[in-house]
Amino acid sequence: MSAECYPVAKAGGLGDVVGALPKYQNKLGHIAKVVMPMYRSKFLYENNFEVVHKGAFGLANYWFDYTIIKEASNKVGFDLYLVDIYGILDREKIYGYDDDSLRFTAFQVAVVDWLAQWKHRPDIVHVHDHHTALVPFMMQYCYAYQHLAGIKTILTIHNAEYQGWMGWEKSNYIPHYDPWKSGMLEWNNTINPLASGIKCAAKVSTVSPNYLQELRYNSNGLENLFEYEKGKCYGILNGIDNDVWNPETDTYIEENFSLNNFKKHKAANKKVLCDQFNLDEDKALIVFIGRLVGEKAADLLPSAISDSIYHMEGRMNFLILGSGEHWIEHQLQNMRGHFLGYYNSQIGYNEKLAHLMYAGADFLLMPSRVEPCGLNQMYAMRYGTIPIVRNTGGLHDTVKDFGEEGGYGICFDRATVWDISYSVHRAVELYDQRERVHEIRKLMMQIDNSWERSAQVYINLYNS
Ligand code: ADP
Repeated sequence: MSAECYPVAKAGGLGDVVGALPKYQNKLGHIAKVVMPMYRSKFLYENNFEVVHKGAFGLANYWFDYTIIKEASNKVGFDLYLVDIYGILDREKIYGYDDDSLRFTAFQVAVVDWLAQWKHRPDIVHVHDHHTALVPFMMQYCYAYQHLAGIKTILTIHNAEYQGWMGWEKSNYIPHYDPWKSGMLEWNNTINPLASGIKCAAKVSTVSPNYLQELRYNSNGLENLFEYEKGKCYGILNGIDNDVWNPETDTYIEENFSLNNFKKHKAANKKVLCDQFNLDEDKALIVFIGRLVGEKAADLLPSAISDSIYHMEGRMNFLILGSGEHWIEHQLQNMRGHFLGYYNSQIGYNEKLAHLMYAGADFLLMPSRVEPCGLNQMYAMRYGTIPIVRNTGGLHDTVKDFGEEGGYGICFDRATVWDISYSVHRAVELYDQRERVHEIRKLMMQIDNSWERSAQVYINLYNS
């Protein structure tokens, strides 16, 4: 159960994970289904659906009719159910509305209400992030749904920065519950859905082992809770969907390539990128792909890029793809004129360009302040692109500095302009050692970060 699922609706890594994990669980012989809100997405209009359930419930002063529709042809590799609540969920964007608390609480109530009447009884209900984290509470303590209490729930945390806080005046969004249990909703005097999920779920997982350790010291107010609940928390590294992210078959890129021929064909992708963005294909191409927010340290990019270009006399090129905070977008846009031929950017979300950049770039920069797992570095490695990462969260678990034995990436410790510029310097120096770069690319492309491995770890957690 999730707010995002690729290819239906994706804002970041959550969508990638929920779009891939169930597919691989099904391949292992289990039955995994996904339920998510019905947004006004392209996927909705381009595919056929059948109605499987209709219901209604009252919430605060509202009365909601909901419909569960199921994608008819099993196109995504698992049963996909969408929850339609007229006027509430059927919007263009996934998040960012003033009534998001109401939207996602209504979504959760609809799913639990449907589960209570469904002909199947799942063994596990697996929820993801704060948008679905009230479900373990609802299944145990809401009077109408208490017969679901025997079904075990698992909460996976993709990002603990966002917790879905709601004031107590919104407690009537949650169906009538045992008042003695209101403490299970609460953290620091507000209703905190993520904290509630951590307290009520049978098991909790984070998307990398190192992120779990970090949350005990830095989790936007939940540190003590993570420390207290550590006995039921597990870190499971995300995988990548090797069917979607495969340089041999990727239809978004200019020329496909494999371990045997990447030297020539990777360069062809770089050429297309450089031609399109007025960059120099002979120089090291360093790219950034992602949300332009403080968590990703995107605010440091303008200074780090200009510093690097000045101090290393333009020995490298930069290309940025992303969207997010407006002031960062503006700065990254305005810089184009100053660094023509050395730097370019595209503001917005562009799946095709992202693939081409993973394929064509030499280095991928991720200076993140917080990175629960990070998928970009794993995609980059599969496409032979060397990651330059800050030593945090899942980046620490997946990238080993090329200075160490068997290493392949560039790692640094602090999210500062100086550390980034220094790492860019190391990248440029490395780029001149062509044979070494070739060996590193070869090594990275063989690393197995696939879901096959991680899906089994989730199954073991379910069994436990
Ligand atoms: P997060 O979920 O924190 O945003 P992840 O590294 O887990 O970060 O996942 C990011 C995913 O979103 C990757 O698949 C990345 O390619 C994609 N992505 C992020 N921003 C963009 C963008 N502007 N255009 C295309 N893809 C993007």
